[in-house]
Amino acid sequence: MEVLAPAGSFEKLKYAVQYGADAVYAAGKQFGLRAQSTNFSKEELQQAVQFCHNQGVKLYITVNIYAHNSHIQPLQEYLKFLHKIDVDAVIVSDVAVAQLIKTEIPELNFHVSTQANVTSWKSVEFWQNFGAKRIILARELTLAEIIEIRQHCPQIELEMFVHGAMCMAYSGRCLLSAYLNNRSANLGNCSQPCRWRYALTEATRPGQYFPIEEDENGTYILNSKDLCLFNRLPEIQKAGIDSIKIEGRMKSVHYTATLTRAYRTAMNFVEKGEPIPDELKQELYKISHRFYTEAFFDEFNSQNTQYYPSSAYIRQFQFLGIIEKVQDNIAYVQVKAKFKVGETIEIIFPDWETDILFKVDKILDEEDNPVVYTKPNTIVKLNLGKPIPPFGILRKKI
Ligand code: SF4
Repeated sequence: MEVLAPAGSFEKLKYAVQYGADAVYAAGKQFGLRAQSTNFSKEELQQAVQFCHNQGVKLYITVNIYAHNSHIQPLQEYLKFLHKIDVDAVIVSDVAVAQLIKTEIPELNFHVSTQANVTSWKSVEFWQNFGAKRIILARELTLAEIIEIRQHCPQIELEMFVHGAMCMAYSGRCLLSAYLNNRSANLGNCSQPCRWRYALTEATRPGQYFPIEEDENGTYILNSKDLCLFNRLPEIQKAGIDSIKIEGRMKSVHYTATLTRAYRTAMNFVEKGEPIPDELKQELYKISHRFYTEAFFDEFNSQNTQYYPSSAYIRQFQFLGIIEKVQDNIAYVQVKAKFKVGETIEIIFPDWETDILFKVDKILDEEDNPVVYTKPNTIVKLNLGKPIPPFGILRKKI
């Protein structure tokens, strides 16, 4: 099975590829949901395709807005551009976009986005007949339904989400953000108000807020957990899924690298028929996350998917920085968060068996002055005392 990783920027794309992605999905500046992630300019898209193809990795570009009339003309040009630079497929939700591809650029592969909410084999069959190369199944399906879909539609590629944030609505089909914030989820601009804290007010008592359910943290009436199907990978493989997808184009380099590596390494064990080691499972808890859920995998029951007491993220490890280069055993670290002399930090690499623990005994700034603390967005030097593999990421236990 293909491990498909998110890339909200070129830097994240490089780390996803180095940490084991078989394919990466990203968006251009136009028409791809997640308008808040940095996304790729046209030049960057072209470079990204070349970078991925040189490494034997596929690149899919999201074009999954629901188009209005004014979008049609620029969409047509954009799709032609994507075909010209040789992206492996585009991800679409709207039949209008699929129709444009079918009639104007039939050689361009398209995948049907999870936003299109494909929940039955009949729907898969429709898209297959329409010319789709792959279907990204709705998150709201059980394993039994997925198996049935595969039996009815043995030819088409099937992809499913295995990890990451979920909507409390059918993926993205929600007006909360547009209504409360004038930021439309269906145009890639959701501000995630389903995770906000809500209370009741009584009309004659302005400023007095009554919790809907009493709790010292307030009330989170629409609060999704994070999806995690790591323990179900053998069943997913057996069900005939071709690609497993990690959500999170807006998350950090550390998130992308850690999860891509964990899922790719786990799949290597699954493919050999071996159990997934527990230490690898622990990796899933080292990224910032919410309570995990297997969501609808066993039964369609929304009770499994929400966590009402709190919307806080669980953080056991802090992402500290990335190693930009190593020269004579000196690591040049691009600092993302503060760490200090005397702390023990973890440095992770694309091969999880080469990870190291490192006691920081000296930190030098770029001019070789010793410093006690690092500051975010600076470069510092650490003498590791031995050669290390490239693409190291620093983190520490909180
Ligand atoms: S507000 Fe929540 S449910 Fe609605 S689109 Fe955004 S993340 Fe999904």
